[in-house]
Amino acid sequence: MPPAVPDSTADASATPTAVVAIDGPSGAGKSTVARLLAARLGFAFLDTGAMYRAVTWHFLQSGCAPAECAGDADHGAARMRAALAAARLELQAGRVLLNGRDVTAHLRVREVESQVSAVSALPFVRTAMRDLQRAVAVQGPVVAEGRDMGSVVFPRARWKVYLDAAPAERARRRSQDFERQGRDVSAADVLDEILVRDRLDSTRSDAPLRQAADALYVDTTGMTTEAVVQRLYDHVRQGDRRQAEAP
Ligand code: C5P
Repeated sequence: MPPAVPDSTADASATPTAVVAIDGPSGAGKSTVARLLAARLGFAFLDTGAMYRAVTWHFLQSGCAPAECAGDADHGAARMRAALAAARLELQAGRVLLNGRDVTAHLRVREVESQVSAVSALPFVRTAMRDLQRAVAVQGPVVAEGRDMGSVVFPRARWKVYLDAAPAERARRRSQDFERQGRDVSAADVLDEILVRDRLDSTRSDAPLRQAADALYVDTTGMTTEAVVQRLYDHVRQGDRRQAEAP
């Protein structure tokens, strides 16, 4: 990933448009769908949740994650800012590198999962991630997934999608992910964690999880992954046709 593009990208009127912006709550299937859609379209894939997770892991390693810094006068803000300034984040072919080290295997551990919403609520973290995300999309078309893609980071994205699913279904999908990773977490615990993260993500003051007004809403409950990818692919291609036919 290139270095953050400075101030010019803070201007929303200059943000990239060749973007499929996919937002939605935890477990709605965004990552899987976005990865497959990107491959089918020949676009790059931008997993912004992985970026927030990598920063959270870095803060944990640096001893300055929010829970550890609660006693600081500024709740650790100065230590976290310094740690962030020393972090070079790169996304390469589905891997996340932090200062050259592959940290992908650490991003879904329990400690990261329990702190990531607190880290992602910090405005200075969001600004840094937003600039990096825009810098990636400036280089070519992307499928970007997260919580604020269509609403904040890429307000001029040509395609916006909000993926949703019933909470029980989202918990079931996350449980399957955990099983694949060899982790034994009860379905009830998974559901509780998802609901806590959704509440934190949608009630924070900076870039809360929101459906952009011009996003296509897709409820994926009961849909196969292939069916969701096809729905989104058709949406992108329809948009292309409409633009080609416009007078
Ligand atoms: O999508 P994923 O579950 O990997 O995201 C992890 C966390 O990162 C979310 O719960 C949210 O707190 C944060 N996030 C965010 N904005 C994004 C993507 C993720 O705040 N664009």
